[in-house]
Amino acid sequence: MPTFLVIGSGIAGLNFALNASKLGQVLIITKKHAIDTSTNYAQGGIAGVLDKYDSFDKHIKDTLIAGSYHNDQKAVKFMVKNAPSAIKNLINYGVKFASHDGELLLTREGGHSERRIAFVGDYTGQEIELALLANVKKNKNIKIWENCFACELILNNDQKSCLGATAIKNQKIMDLYADYTILATGGCGQVYLHTTNPKISTGDGLAMGYRAGLKFQDLEFIQFHPTAFNYWGEAKFLISEAVRGEGAYLKNNKGERFMLKRHKLAELAPRDIVAINIYEESKKSPIYLDITHKDPNEVKLRFPKIYDWLKDYGFDLTKDLIPITPAAHYSCGGIKVNLKSETGVKNLYAFGEVACTGVHGANRLASNSLVEALVFSDAIIKNLAQKNADRTNITKIQIKKNKSEYLKLNKKLENKLIAMQKNLKNLMWEKVGILRKMAEMAEALESINQLKSNLPANTKGLNEMLLETENLLITAELITKSAMARPISLGGHYIKDH
Ligand SMILES: Cc1cc2nc3c(=O)[nH]c(=O)nc-3n(C[C@H](O)[C@H](O)[C@H](O)COP(=O)(O)OP(=O)(O)OC[C@H]3O[C@@H](n4cnc5c(N)ncnc54)[C@H](O)[C@@H]3O)c2cc1C
Repeated sequence: MPTFLVIGSGIAGLNFALNASKLGQVLIITKKHAIDTSTNYAQGGIAGVLDKYDSFDKHIKDTLIAGSYHNDQKAVKFMVKNAPSAIKNLINYGVKFASHDGELLLTREGGHSERRIAFVGDYTGQEIELALLANVKKNKNIKIWENCFACELILNNDQKSCLGATAIKNQKIMDLYADYTILATGGCGQVYLHTTNPKISTGDGLAMGYRAGLKFQDLEFIQFHPTAFNYWGEAKFLISEAVRGEGAYLKNNKGERFMLKRHKLAELAPRDIVAINIYEESKKSPIYLDITHKDPNEVKLRFPKIYDWLKDYGFDLTKDLIPITPAAHYSCGGIKVNLKSETGVKNLYAFGEVACTGVHGANRLASNSLVEALVFSDAIIKNLAQKNADRTNITKIQIKKNKSEYLKLNKKLENKLIAMQKNLKNLMWEKVGILRKMAEMAEALESINQLKSNLPANTKGLNEMLLETENLLITAELITKSAMARPISLGGHYIKDH
């Protein structure tokens, strides 16, 4: 029986693990609690052709338009055609999508020409995460280790195949060996001052891939969401575009609907245009979302989670102006993989937001990311089942003590790392953010290198916070270099001096 080491417990890692458990033994490691994932925060839904008026061609076309035709068309077709069965699989796992008389209710989001988004209220991701986790927990072939931080991939001597990963658990450093290693570590929004991503999204998989010599693609295409709740200068969570869809206004501190002067569709202009305009207007004034003119009962009914979350911070969506900011939301690029999710290093695969299949091109069509993670982590199984010949024959996941020691941080070093992360986030937000200038990106790269050289050198031992700081710096460098390599605007990559 083959063995699988899966790094990450979001939709990509969990769905892969459930598939792989049919072939062999799986260990999932995840750096915090299992539900601490971007998946758990997804509000909108999951896209697939599920309605008789819709067609594969229409979903493909919408995806290509959103991605400015920079997409890999084979990957797009592959995802779109396999999306309906992947979503039906989720229903088999127990996800209770909104339905009426046994028919799925489908909604429509920006960029979709048809109704094709299956959803559960405004908490689709949470429902998916919990259903997949429940299946994982009752599966005898899968173990899940929480609070286990993957540090490094273990490659064999010629660096051409992967044997597993080094990880930290309970301040102990260990090497975990398996036939196949899976990177499903999610995105990297934490590289920016404002992000909708949870704290775990620090680009660890990208940085591990970088240290292992993997190739990257499209990292300049970071999608910024126009509206995250801004609590005293920090984005706390995403406020779905559907709130504007239901009639909410964007206002500055004079109470002006500034979007009226900027675009004929005002608040309903395309996501990027709204994000850029909020960003520019927010240099002059705080920006608010206002839905107080709508029926409070309907607002509460339509947005129960957002209403509750805001209540926790002392805001009433039905009565108050809600301070908002744009925020880094999704990384369209990542570790370059082919249609079989192969990374170029034997026995190492990548799925979900950490990977770049080419599906999203220069910008992601809403609700295409959950389904991408599902489709690609489903498809690989047939390939692995036929691939027994490549196995290293690690019939049981092996755990060996690593000779590195755990590094306990003193307060001084901890504070230094916090300050470095803060500097980096501000830098990326200002210079490699929503609106970019070539000269500013060059300055950012210099500052990133400066920060890198300030990382404590010669420290013996490994530590999670130290690694996360290094990973954020590597990710920032990769994004900046990709952005500088594209001096013209395309999709989500806006060069102001172009
Ligand atoms: C607020 C929000 C709303 C969204 N809404 C939608 C939507 O409506 N529809 C849609 O299609 N997409 C949506 N997205 C995007 C989508 O949720 C993500 O792209 C997707 O969930 C990513 O899944 P993943 O499995 O790749 O990563 P994640 O779900 O982020 O999981 C990553 C996992 O890797 C683990 N990990 C990371 N580093 C390490 C390490 N060093 N060691 C061990 N474990 C590690 C993490 O702990 C976590 O378990 C949204 C994203 C956000 C943030």
